[in-house]
Amino acid sequence: MSRVTIDRRRFNQLVAALVAGAGAVPVQRALAATAARPGLPLIVLDAGHGGIDPGAIGVVGTYEKNIALPTVIELAHQLQATRRYRVQLTRRDDEFISLEGRVARARAAGADLFLSVHADALPDRAARGASVYTLSEQASDREAALLAASENRADLVGGIKLDTRDPQVNGILIDLARRQTNNLSIRFAQDVVNELGRHVVMLTNSHRSAGFAVLKAPDIPSALVEIGCLSNRTEELDLRRAPYRIEVARALTRSIGDYFDAIGV
Ligand code: ZN
Repeated sequence: MSRVTIDRRRFNQLVAALVAGAGAVPVQRALAATAARPGLPLIVLDAGHGGIDPGAIGVVGTYEKNIALPTVIELAHQLQATRRYRVQLTRRDDEFISLEGRVARARAAGADLFLSVHADALPDRAARGASVYTLSEQASDREAALLAASENRADLVGGIKLDTRDPQVNGILIDLARRQTNNLSIRFAQDVVNELGRHVVMLTNSHRSAGFAVLKAPDIPSALVEIGCLSNRTEELDLRRAPYRIEVARALTRSIGDYFDAIGV
């Protein structure tokens, strides 16, 4: 898939048209990520894996899917208790959902923030600690190019309806939304690292980037948190304990609060 290419003069014309036209206000609002949407911000929480997909399997046989779900349910309760957000879950039970299906649910719901919760398994059984992922720049570029080339022009990106019928305008709008989304995702991931780091062991380089399909919404700030390593026996036993997961959920609740404080919502 080739990137959307455009010459400099045409780019300037398009930007001028966007800024001058009726589209300017929705674009600005959409890029503020949450300001355009009425009511409380919507957080979509995604418990990794489920159904036929157990995810990682721990040393004593713990399934990742069975750690992710109670963590997400606890986190949902804590977030709702703040009365600051609306919260939706991609799954509430042991259901298999494709990675694309998870993103589709978040986009259909109009999520302001997406957090996917997992537990890791590393080849080194001595390694332990939590880590946070955001979408890598490369994967993000690829996804934006695919979306820009997609036939689905009725789609919404960042609250902007892609109905201009001009593929170059659509490409620019997607790119603007995507850049802003990346910045917000990185900001959120740093908040998660800071808050989690106060309560649980973190892996070195605890903020990483990768091409996770579940992080590919171009218009929803998204992160994936590995709340610990099932490949480490001590941490596996920690992750099986509700008080430990409650502590993790507390840190995540605070990080979500930090994030919305920082972006002024
Ligand atoms: Zn996982």
